[in-house]
Amino acid sequence: MHNAVIIVAGGKGLRMGGDIPKQFLVVDGMPILMHTISKFAEWDGAMEIVVVLPESQQQYWRELCREYGFDIRHTIATGGKERFHSVKNGLAVVPAECGLVAVHDGVRPYVSHETIARCFDAAARYGAAVPVTPVVETIRHIEPDGRSITVPRADYRLVQTPQVFRTDLLRRAYEQEFTTAFTDDASVVEAMGIEVTLVEGNRENIKITTPADLRK
Ligand code: C5P
Repeated sequence: MHNAVIIVAGGKGLRMGGDIPKQFLVVDGMPILMHTISKFAEWDGAMEIVVVLPESQQQYWRELCREYGFDIRHTIATGGKERFHSVKNGLAVVPAECGLVAVHDGVRPYVSHETIARCFDAAARYGAAVPVTPVVETIRHIEPDGRSITVPRADYRLVQTPQVFRTDLLRRAYEQEFTTAFTDDASVVEAMGIEVTLVEGNRENIKITTPADLRK
């Protein structure tokens, strides 16, 4: 079956403090977004790759690809107001013959091939798969009165991407009206009453949000 991945980098991404959106910062000789795309192309050379970027960054991205001789074939889609709208724009250019589609954050270059494989395998069997890791910190819940209590961390999981789905299912899910409760793709699919399957992610697969995340 033909696979697709939508790599979302449609946010302005300026939280790193500089002028360069975080997905373009150079790590180990290449912009972060190129590392992320490479992970999927290495795993499946025939995969359809859609990269979602704000309109204002697309020219710069093409220049970077020339500068770095980056020749992994991909289609560019335009970012929207929220992540939800960026994914929807990406889905619109995923070819009809792709049976499974992954959605992955452009700023997660440290995803492992094993995590990608586990997500695609589970989605092929069950329809919707999400990688998670155990919570290693102790976590506290803030009560309505402002006090806080420790909660059993074994009851929680940290959610990563890629989140992988049967393409028809994800297309139907993204026909829904946007709400702020949609913080990832699983939440959009679940709003249709569909269950998602959890699979093991990898600890290094963090979302780079601050310069400290780059100091590995
Ligand atoms: O903002 P947040 O850290 O949740 O973003 C997660 C991913 O979603 C990032 O890769 C970001 O570029 C992407 N995103 C997007 N379009 C938006 C907002 C975020 O593609 N409007």
